[in-house]
Amino acid sequence: MLKLNLISAKDESRIVDAIRLAELNCSGEVRVHIEANCKDDAKARAIQLFEKLGMTKTKLRNGILIYVATNDHKFAIIGDQGINDLVGHDFWDDVKEKMLDHLKQGQIADAVCLAVTMAGEKLKIHFPFERNDKDELSNEISFGS
Ligand code: CA
Ligand code: CA
Repeated sequence: MLKLNLISAKDESRIVDAIRLAELNCSGEVRVHIEANCKDDAKARAIQLFEKLGMTKTKLRNGILIYVATNDHKFAIIGDQGINDLVGHDFWDDVKEKMLDHLKQGQIADAVCLAVTMAGEKLKIHFPFERNDKDELSNEISFGS
């Protein structure tokens, strides 16, 4: 997928590392999608990408997607139904608020890494790591439209 110059290689590897670490403690799957523009509502776009990236196909329906549109300064974080059944709105609001603090200062990688870590900690509570855990969804960031 097209990466353009959305983030630096260093930031990309920081984010992928954060995903890998988050998934060491839980059975859930965290993915990150970054693109330049978002014409729609960020949450609607994230829901569309969630399907497109095959994120509804995890066994326990416990994927979380963090979405950022860098040029349009939009972002969203959404979870699959297995998580939404267990986690309240306040959790997502809390993550979004903390992401916003970094995004306002242009710190995209910091915002994403923080969200990945918070998502991992929440997943750990509800979906602890299992011995035969599979990496059901790639830890690589997906880019572009
Ligand atoms: Ca897993
Ligand atoms: Ca994964």
